[in-house]
Amino acid sequence: MKIKGGGVILFPMPFQGHINPMLQLANILHERGFSISIIHTHFNSPNTANYPHFRFYSIPDGLPENYVVSPDPIRIVALIKSLNSNCQTPVRDCLTELVSTSLEDEHPIACLITDVLWYSTQAVADDLKLPRIVLRTSNVSSFLVMVSMPLLFQKGYLPLQDSQAENQVPELPYFRFKDVSMFKVIDVGSFFEFADTVVEGTKASSGIIFNSCEDLEEEYVTKFSLCFPIPVFLIGPFHKYFPASSSSLLPQDNTCISWLDKQQPKSVIYVSFGSIAAIEETEFLEVAWGLANSKQPFLWVVRPGVVQGCKWLEPLPDGFVEMVGERGHIVKWAPQQEVLLHPSTGVFWTHCGWNSTLESLCEGVPMICQPAFGDQITDARFVSHVWKVGIHLEFKIERGVIDKAIRRSMVEPEGQEMRDRIKLLKDKMNLCLKPGGSSYKSLDNLVSYMLSL
Ligand code: UDP
Repeated sequence: MKIKGGGVILFPMPFQGHINPMLQLANILHERGFSISIIHTHFNSPNTANYPHFRFYSIPDGLPENYVVSPDPIRIVALIKSLNSNCQTPVRDCLTELVSTSLEDEHPIACLITDVLWYSTQAVADDLKLPRIVLRTSNVSSFLVMVSMPLLFQKGYLPLQDSQAENQVPELPYFRFKDVSMFKVIDVGSFFEFADTVVEGTKASSGIIFNSCEDLEEEYVTKFSLCFPIPVFLIGPFHKYFPASSSSLLPQDNTCISWLDKQQPKSVIYVSFGSIAAIEETEFLEVAWGLANSKQPFLWVVRPGVVQGCKWLEPLPDGFVEMVGERGHIVKWAPQQEVLLHPSTGVFWTHCGWNSTLESLCEGVPMICQPAFGDQITDARFVSHVWKVGIHLEFKIERGVIDKAIRRSMVEPEGQEMRDRIKLLKDKMNLCLKPGGSSYKSLDNLVSYMLSL
């Protein structure tokens, strides 16, 4: 049903894994009749030409030209803090202008939707009397773990003690102590301050949207509502509302698809570690030899910068590419959603960023999980131990371990069991979006709520 909505202003955090879901959400709301304005930073600005139906407003962010996001999680937290302080005045100016011009517009502004990590916008929204809804681009369980970290320190669970690592955290179902140690926190005080600000900004908001669905993590949705007494809307998976999105910041290499077309059904291992995670050169070589030794066809995304200090493939031994020949295809960036939809793709070896995890679940592709930090760790735990649709590479990345994981997931009966389970999850998620499904109902509720603000 199309409802004539008001105007909505959306403000994504400028990282690939945050821009994709925010623009997908913008498309969903546009389809429901809202007019869309997007505020974005100069850094990692989206390709506006792909969205002629939206209005875009660029604001300065104080970052140097050609800034590259560090794969170090503590530096990412510092970057989020700087963005919040650098952008507070520009975003205030931009919102003030938009609010004042909207008074003469046929679409008065219903609300502001920002990434939950733009906590500094709550004060601006309050001053302008603009309801602010937040978007958490990951799932509910990982958000709860992240904001619980200060408490976990106070209880003495963190920093992680080796002797405790494998034990279950009493308050957080499914997670062991090592799963909730999302970041190696060096400056505890500074991290607490960050987590508290996110919590306060969320509690003060008019509601929260998750790119997840209730059927995936019911228990944590209940827990979340006890901690955060605000309206909660789980309306994901966003990317299934429309065909493959066009919010990629890097050019996607479409030779992947013609190469996949030549492979046998479910025979290919697709490898990608997302837009930020990095690996050591020694690990990179183990990945390469693990793939080579597995004898399976592979499509490998080697994002420039994935091995720090290297331009692209130079750490590979001479002759490696020629040796694997047509059996391997290496690209800088792939059209991932299309790759996962392709019938030749058999397994996804992933860092378990939430978008990648959700995309894989929705296409029924089992995973080999190699998380680096943050929600990737809790996602990997859900994939391997709750939904049981993947293998977690928890220890040293070494070619023998990789080769074994590939065989377990592609060739052995365990692989078929994972495929059967993930097919059920895929069907469940498709049902979520259909009339009567949990995400469908939640989106209806969100739209009514936004119209009532
Ligand atoms: N992605 C892509 N091509 C690639 C690798 C990733 O288009 O070669 C997309 C992927 O589909 C996902 C996003 O980039 O939507 C990565 O988000 P995720 O949350 O998985 O990880 P992050 O990059 O935030 O660590």
